[in-house]
Amino acid sequence: MKFDNIIIGGGLSGLTCGIKLAEQGRKCAIVSSGQSAIHFFSGSFDLLSQVDEQEVKNPLETMNSLPETHPYKRVGLENIAGLADEAPQLLDRAGLNFSGQANHNHFVLTPMGTMKPTWLTLDDFTRFEQKDTFPWKQAVILNFTGFLDFHTLFIKDGLTRFDVKVQIKDIAMEVFEAIRRNPSEMRSTNIAKKFDKGNVIDEFAQKVNELSEDAEVAILPAVFGLFNKTVAAELKKKIKKPLILLPAIPPSVPGIRSQILLRQRFQELGGTYFLGDNVEEGTFGNKRLLDIKTYNHGDIKLEAEQFVLASGSFYSKGIVATPDKLYDPIFGLDIDGDSDRAQWFDEKIFNDQPFMRYGVKTDKHFRALMSGEPIENLYVAGSVLGGANPLKEGSGAGISLLTSLHVAEQILMAS
Ligand SMILES: Cc1cc2nc3c(=O)[nH]c(=O)nc-3n(C[C@H](O)[C@H](O)[C@H](O)COP(=O)(O)OP(=O)(O)OC[C@H]3O[C@@H](n4cnc5c(N)ncnc54)[C@H](O)[C@@H]3O)c2cc1C
Repeated sequence: MKFDNIIIGGGLSGLTCGIKLAEQGRKCAIVSSGQSAIHFFSGSFDLLSQVDEQEVKNPLETMNSLPETHPYKRVGLENIAGLADEAPQLLDRAGLNFSGQANHNHFVLTPMGTMKPTWLTLDDFTRFEQKDTFPWKQAVILNFTGFLDFHTLFIKDGLTRFDVKVQIKDIAMEVFEAIRRNPSEMRSTNIAKKFDKGNVIDEFAQKVNELSEDAEVAILPAVFGLFNKTVAAELKKKIKKPLILLPAIPPSVPGIRSQILLRQRFQELGGTYFLGDNVEEGTFGNKRLLDIKTYNHGDIKLEAEQFVLASGSFYSKGIVATPDKLYDPIFGLDIDGDSDRAQWFDEKIFNDQPFMRYGVKTDKHFRALMSGEPIENLYVAGSVLGGANPLKEGSGAGISLLTSLHVAEQILMAS
């Protein structure tokens, strides 16, 4: 099977790279073995939230101080602002409405009741401009009876530090009784499915209105709109008080919806999405990747002019660590990491962990290196790249989005 471009990995990076290429008329395929980090999505995409233990106010400006090996520096700061404008527009065309600016972090309330700086926030969630104040003095946190994945006491604790008077109340409705009888069924996605059908919204909104009568703001878990993206907006219209949705324990309902919408957009543009297929190896010749072999396709090789490796970091097995080595399990590409295992981690768990910066080595065009030589048509994007600690910096989605759009541009320019 032949394509113009094949992308390995269907996470945020692979999907946005595929969409950009397909929008430019490329015949693309994405091969993805499974779920991605989007299933754990908090509701916001971070660009750069912290550098040298200092909170970042203006990510674009602060990027100047990053090391030359950081993916943002390697994309080139002259390109970053344009790509950061392009990213929300691409997401918007997929039906995902995000707001925020790359030169000014805003804040979101976390499930710990604290404020966190971020770049782009999905419109289900509430943006705040101040981190030290909460705009309301009386809040009610509402949870579904028997839903264990929403930790109301943490939220209450956090909000109390803003001098907010907080009540916690439960909502019981007949429609949730069947899933409530089995605690393993009482999960965010099953609750969301009940709302997707549409006939629950009015009764639920009425209950929320009754329970939030003596509060200024209502807080609920973000379990709305799995397949039906209008649910959260409809609820906000019907609930009389301002409504704040907070992430529950994964799987994330807004995250799964985002993944579905991105995949739909890619397929509507003519892209082919091979779900649940694992890329096992590739054939190389003349410093080029000629084809890839996947588990499901067996002997039917997949060929392309250019390939993109967007297989994620350790979490998605884009890179693997065993007691004696770090490696890319598909091609055995060069890894930017320490060969001495003792240097991989810091015993103090909250310190900057060196292994978080490890990833596949590339040249300046983001082409993968094998034995020190670039593979001419194999590009690398997203969290499989090294050079940053996304957890410490709050830069995960930014790196994934901006490197994938940059790599798509490199491919479009190269052909
Ligand atoms: C659990 C978790 C939650 C996060 N939440 C947030 C957040 O809320 N906000 C934020 O800003 N950042 C967050 N991040 C940071 C995150 O790195 C980025 O946001 C981004 O989603 C990563 O996208 P990616 O496409 O690079 O990798 P991934 O999302 O990891 O996707 C990689 C994909 O490659 C596939 N794959 C791997 N190997 C193969 C193979 N051999 N064959 C075929 N397919 C393969 C995997 O199945 C997966 O679908 C989170 C990270 C993690 C790990």
